[in-house]
Amino acid sequence: MDHAYLLTAILPVIAAVLCATLYSLWLKQRERRHVLNWSLAYACAVLGSALSLARLVIENAAPFSLIANAFLVGVAFFAARGALLLHGGRAADRITVPILLATILAGLWFGFVSPSIFWRGTTASLGAAVIFVIAARAIARNPGRDRIDRLTGLVFVLTAATLVARPALAFALEGPIESEAEVTSAFWGVSFRIFAMLSWCAMAVLFLLRTTSDLMAEATAQSLTDPLTGIGNRRGFFSAAETVLATVDPQEPAALLLCDIDAFKQVNDSYGHATGDLVIQELAKVLSEAVEGTGAVLGRLGGEEFVVLLPATPLEPAITVAEAIRAGYARRSRAIAPLQGPVTVSIGIAETVGDEEVEAVIERADAALYRAKRKGRDRVEVAGLAEGAPETPPRGTSHSRRYRRAFTAPEARTRTRP
Ligand code: GH3
Ligand code: MG
Ligand code: MG
Repeated sequence: MDHAYLLTAILPVIAAVLCATLYSLWLKQRERRHVLNWSLAYACAVLGSALSLARLVIENAAPFSLIANAFLVGVAFFAARGALLLHGGRAADRITVPILLATILAGLWFGFVSPSIFWRGTTASLGAAVIFVIAARAIARNPGRDRIDRLTGLVFVLTAATLVARPALAFALEGPIESEAEVTSAFWGVSFRIFAMLSWCAMAVLFLLRTTSDLMAEATAQSLTDPLTGIGNRRGFFSAAETVLATVDPQEPAALLLCDIDAFKQVNDSYGHATGDLVIQELAKVLSEAVEGTGAVLGRLGGEEFVVLLPATPLEPAITVAEAIRAGYARRSRAIAPLQGPVTVSIGIAETVGDEEVEAVIERADAALYRAKRKGRDRVEVAGLAEGAPETPPRGTSHSRRYRRAFTAPEARTRTRP
């Protein structure tokens, strides 16, 4: 079999694999409509290239070629539609649908009224090129674009340029092609198939990269976030805190607030776990509001224990923030139904020394927190600089046991400052 025929037969197979891959990725994340559009682009590629096969077996293939051309413009339409949804926030159908319809009308005109294979193909190519340029423009205008997006834009532009250059080159080489039978082995047909294969594969690689890297970013964000409160979990806090501490001046100490809800077990026991969850969520809200816009790092270390890192904050303002949190929480927790009275929080504060690890500061703040609990709870205590290690709490004190366990958690042990 001639290589030109082989290429014609391979295209729908390649397109079908890419279509199925993108479609199965969309099934896992149906809210990402751009992935569905990219899958539809390859569904059009399957139909367009499969209909082109008709030339090999059918005498009068003109109507099939006409429909094939429409589907091939459909590839551009849906590939661009996906990119427009992702980067421009909207599909821009009011611009791209008329272009698609115009190419179909031009196809009908050059198919039946004034038959010309050359002009039928050229008008379809020009329509597709304009659609790709519109999508590339939307990518270029998106300030949040990354390297994958920039490459996608480049592939769109190169595809558009080739779509314009190919008919011109074919015309220069072999004049306007006029016979369906010649198309498959002529430069006109062979160049299209090679170009389509390269362009479709390049686009698909980038679409797949975009989709999988978005999925990975989402999974990473989820692994760093506490689902109950929406703030960072232990892992998220350590990761963000180390990044912040690595970028600030070690001469400007940061303050760390360790907050633990008082007698929380009683809340659970008296009102149930669901109310306990509301009490936890309320503290997360109070903390977030107290440090909003300050560059502070928040985290839920576990259970009813939260941590706040205030970069470049001396002790005095840190104490003011802690007191505001303590008083604000006692006030706000009264409003949580069906609580009969306020729930309070105890806070231990420690200051960073030089470029020490986050765990060391937490350890000192824990000593201060333990002191706050011992002195009667609902209070703020500051760790003295000499307070190296936490005071040894009596055996069986639940919050201190939990900290010790936490300090030897794998992510806490292996983490080092970048
Ligand atoms: P202290 O004043 O000394 O801090 O005492 P406490 O009762 O607050 O501390 P303790 O460590 O004895 O109790 C913490 C409880 O928090 C035990 C655990 O069942 C509960 N808890 C842990 N995680 C959650 C959660 O996500 N939701 C709810 N509702 N309870 C939780
Ligand atoms: Mg507690
Ligand atoms: Mg506790």
